[in-house]
Amino acid sequence: MTGVSQRMIALEESATVAITARAKAMRAGGAHVIGYGAGEPDFPTPPAIVEAARQAALDPDNHRYTPTAGLPKLRAAIAAKTERDSGLVVAPSQVVVTNGAKQAVYATCQVLLDPGDEVLLPTPYWVTYPEAVRLAGGVPVPVPSDHSASYRVTVDQLEAATTDRTKLLIHVSPSNPTGAVYPADEVEAIGRWAAGRGIWVMTDEIYEHLTYGVEAPSMPVVVPEMADRCVVVNGVAKTYAMTGWRVGWLIGPPQIAEAATTLQSHLTSNVANVTQAAAHAAVSGPLDAVAEMRAAFDRRRQTMHRMLNEIPGVRCPEPLGAFYAFPSVGDLLGRRMGISTPHTSLELAAVLLDEIEIAVIPGEAFGAPGHLRLSYALADDELIEGLTRFQELITRSG
Ligand code: PMP
Repeated sequence: MTGVSQRMIALEESATVAITARAKAMRAGGAHVIGYGAGEPDFPTPPAIVEAARQAALDPDNHRYTPTAGLPKLRAAIAAKTERDSGLVVAPSQVVVTNGAKQAVYATCQVLLDPGDEVLLPTPYWVTYPEAVRLAGGVPVPVPSDHSASYRVTVDQLEAATTDRTKLLIHVSPSNPTGAVYPADEVEAIGRWAAGRGIWVMTDEIYEHLTYGVEAPSMPVVVPEMADRCVVVNGVAKTYAMTGWRVGWLIGPPQIAEAATTLQSHLTSNVANVTQAAAHAAVSGPLDAVAEMRAAFDRRRQTMHRMLNEIPGVRCPEPLGAFYAFPSVGDLLGRRMGISTPHTSLELAAVLLDEIEIAVIPGEAFGAPGHLRLSYALADDELIEGLTRFQELITRSG
């Protein structure tokens, strides 16, 4: 008798926990572990945003509860920023400010799903999606894609996975974990198909500003008839290096925004006012900090993509967005490396940590065994050093 509910027992423990904990312990013991696990920019939040938070903390108005759906000035600024950045025109009343985009994902599932509703989940997927679906009683239906398709799913695949219980498609572009970006014609095809089928779409745009030489169009802009069936999820975490501040939002049709507000009223009341003020400064300010980050990420992305593909047995399509590469490593499995022979990507990740002290996330975490996820949100010299170790290990084991 653990006392833990069935609902929680059904949640999958993240496959990343063990590796991350071991990497941390090794670092504490003095090892030079190079970490490719980070899901966050390695830059500080721009000073003007931090200063806005400092000022907000001094204002007694912010020491009180504020409206559940968010500070009115922040909701208005998010509506304005959405039009500026993606071209989607929304009313501030359609915006609900949440504790990070993660809570917006959770709320979207709670608001849209009834028990047994099926959710199309292009795979590899971000770890939180299937669990948020399950917590709402929904059933995730994986729709697999691989490196040969640059990790993008097609309308035919979605159609084949659809049943009369299908309620929602989760769409994320740029993608975590693959770095895939859907071009406009594919967004349009998927959006038109969803509209025709009467399927809702949650479109996660958190990496909207981290694209490299391509655009990441927003589905309800490309397919306007989807606007009343789309929930847009976004936040300040990645664009402004603000992962720790915990501000995200969802934008939906009025009845969805109202339901999400009711949910939030019983869950968290409102997002911390000081961080809402910081988010307000962020979304109503300039985009130069993200331009600088993008230039650094782009450089590291190219280095990582090249160095990974130089390793025999590793195949990695060019990541076009976010800050992750997602190589297929199936051909490395079953080969002897140092004192071990990994047979799964989970075991390979452990070997890479033990033998050459690099921490990567195994594809199992994203529903895609036989792959690894490497973040390039780390310093250039570290990135090169770790990948050189990887190259040498495989050459030795060759
Ligand atoms: N969506 C995706 C695709 C993400 O990668 C992340 C963060 N890893 C989030 C949402 C959540 O972001 P936040 O920090 O705002 O909760």
